[in-house]
Amino acid sequence: MTAEIRCIDEYANETLARAQILYTDLDGTLLGRGGSVLLDAAGAPSAITASAIARLNTAGLPVVMCSGRNQLQLFEIARILGWSGFIAEVGCVIMPERGAEPIYYMGDWPQDALSARETPFEAIKRVGALDVLWETYPGLIEHHTPYDGHREATYVLRGNVDIELARSALASLELPVELIDNGIIHPTRTTLRDVNEVHAYHLLPAGVSKAKAVAYDLERRGIPREHALSIGDSVTDIAMAASVGLGVLVANALDDPKVSEALVSPPGEIAATHGARGEGWAELAAAWLAARETASH
Ligand SMILES: [Mg+2]
Repeated sequence: MTAEIRCIDEYANETLARAQILYTDLDGTLLGRGGSVLLDAAGAPSAITASAIARLNTAGLPVVMCSGRNQLQLFEIARILGWSGFIAEVGCVIMPERGAEPIYYMGDWPQDALSARETPFEAIKRVGALDVLWETYPGLIEHHTPYDGHREATYVLRGNVDIELARSALASLELPVELIDNGIIHPTRTTLRDVNEVHAYHLLPAGVSKAKAVAYDLERRGIPREHALSIGDSVTDIAMAASVGLGVLVANALDDPKVSEALVSPPGEIAATHGARGEGWAELAAAWLAARETASH
């Protein structure tokens, strides 16, 4: 643990005791190796995270997933874990509760950006954002199959590109679009040319982020910012700290050099757990429950 970042234990009283809601990242945070909630960070079977989920559910404390995954995936995960609302596709798709109509959060796009029955996903294609990418980076970027299906608002791509090159072209489209680097991945097969290090990218409406979606969702729920927590493992999760009272990082987040860079000037209060992935998640759950218990006496 680096010197600048505090442990969640130090927030045990005030911040945790008044928290009413937790926004959580999934991959690298709640989920262990291979995306399983029943495996720890090293891949060993563990019920620590599942037990923490059950305890928060018993206490009636809402947990809202905030992930790059799509609505269909989060719908099933929410059902399995006993949760309701969630935020999908990096902040673009807000589900007030399971089975409700999605709210499209579109960042800098005007209210009337979409034509009748159009999704943001279709609008991104309509304004030519994909054509800009294929023309700017021939052979260097492609759809991230098979993980790119059933999307409503964002594209998942892979490759290795200098984002700055396409940024101004994407920003000046009829509806401005952004390309975000999601870090290194290891796809088994691609049709990319001469790309050694493959990155995952999200193509999304400009101005959309997990942080802004969390702020929007809190306002919709009538919960003040200081009464919310977030937990994650990446730079986009650090940004969520701007929208909540305390942003927590699981210990494995600190292995990422980009996270260390972002921690030089964090957008809000940040604390870290001792444990990695689900074990860190369970640590936060335990600290949250203990702080509420103490405060009620
Ligand atoms: Mg993550």
